[in-house]
Amino acid sequence: MQSVFKIPERYNYVIPERRGTKRLQVEGHQLEKILVEALDINLERARGLLESRSTRVLKYKDEITYIALRRDVAGHYEGTSIIIDRKGNYRVVEGYPHIKRVLLLSKAVPRHFIDYVYVEEKMDGYNVRVIEFNNRILALTRGGYICPYTTGRMEKIYGEKLRNLFDAVGEDSVVVGEVVGMENPYTRYFYPEAPEWDFFVFDIMNPNGEPLPIENRRSLISDMGLKNVPLLARSHKDDWQTIREIVKGLEETGREGIVMKDPYYRVEPLKYTTSYINARDIMEGMKYPFDEGHTFIFPRVLRQMFKAIEEEWSEEELLENAYRIGKAILIPAVESIKRYLSEGRLVEEFTLTFYTHKDLEDFILHSASLGIPLTVISLDKSEEMIKVRMVKPKRTPEYYRRIMKTGISPLD
Ligand code: ATP
Ligand code: MG
Repeated sequence: MQSVFKIPERYNYVIPERRGTKRLQVEGHQLEKILVEALDINLERARGLLESRSTRVLKYKDEITYIALRRDVAGHYEGTSIIIDRKGNYRVVEGYPHIKRVLLLSKAVPRHFIDYVYVEEKMDGYNVRVIEFNNRILALTRGGYICPYTTGRMEKIYGEKLRNLFDAVGEDSVVVGEVVGMENPYTRYFYPEAPEWDFFVFDIMNPNGEPLPIENRRSLISDMGLKNVPLLARSHKDDWQTIREIVKGLEETGREGIVMKDPYYRVEPLKYTTSYINARDIMEGMKYPFDEGHTFIFPRVLRQMFKAIEEEWSEEELLENAYRIGKAILIPAVESIKRYLSEGRLVEEFTLTFYTHKDLEDFILHSASLGIPLTVISLDKSEEMIKVRMVKPKRTPEYYRRIMKTGISPLD
């Protein structure tokens, strides 16, 4: 496919990252020494990490080099990022912790919580940690990568408000939220309140890495003119039936689910999702069965198995659900084969809005350096913005090609 966007010649390929070839030095600073100090590990360990697949070294706009941790390392979560400026000043941005999933509300909620449970909506987009570093607003994705696209939109839409917030809570704080809407390269889902792009905060970590109590966080966010994820209830832990009713309401409006939290984070949060989203995720995943599709199925079937027990489904409800899950698995998968056969390709297509050409270029280079070669298929430029239609390649069509040729399954 011909790209309508011209990437400077020197960048027009993906730079392979091989073991041992990582730069150990940046602007004269030894990355390994920074890692020793940042993670409190010895030199040998730091060198090993830099040369292994556990870390990724990337650049952001000439002025920042950063090391993203691709797994839990030395007590730091996967997605932790060590961000370094040209002078060698660095900052560790802790990865966002994994949230345990509930299968049985009736068991988990009363056992896990202490007294009160705040129920926040779980919004379906992508996790973004926002920081202020050397006066710049930076947006990090779950993996610890500074996303030039998300950073560009965040700065434009909320830059000033975020700076005010950092002034109030300390510039070493981290603001965490979900970016939702249809204009992003990661997870697209339509929200009436955020059809294209918006950011809903669900955590503020203070400079010591501790989350602010829910009430404080929510009032600060609204005082600063930022948006909170919806708060659906303040319940007592024994009142799990109310929580179940809330989830039923979300089923009807086609929303993802809830995250239940102790008001002071004395115990860790728990998440729970709707049947609606369990089926929809399978359906979305199975558009590309050899990419995300196959790994999506069992965890979501498991969720439905225990809903059937807890909610005491009738024969009829069980059948209805079985039909819904079966449809979600097979229909998009068969359609994807037909699409591949008729069009000869299978790609993911989306639209992004940029405010500067530089952000667009940075984003394409960023994706390329992560091994994702994006192709721009159309570009619509106006005074204020550039709307870009892009496609992302998938692995599934290569599997289809081989199967159609040999007739043999790549699985057992
Ligand atoms: P993990 O389970 O490891 O956190 P995951 O990618 O499987 O990762 P999800 O199943 O989407 O994540 O659930 C956790 C994510 O939910 C968080 O990382 C966050 O991005 C998102 N989220 C949406 N709304 C909220 C909320 N109100 N509170 C906390 N997290 C939320
Ligand atoms: Mg999610």
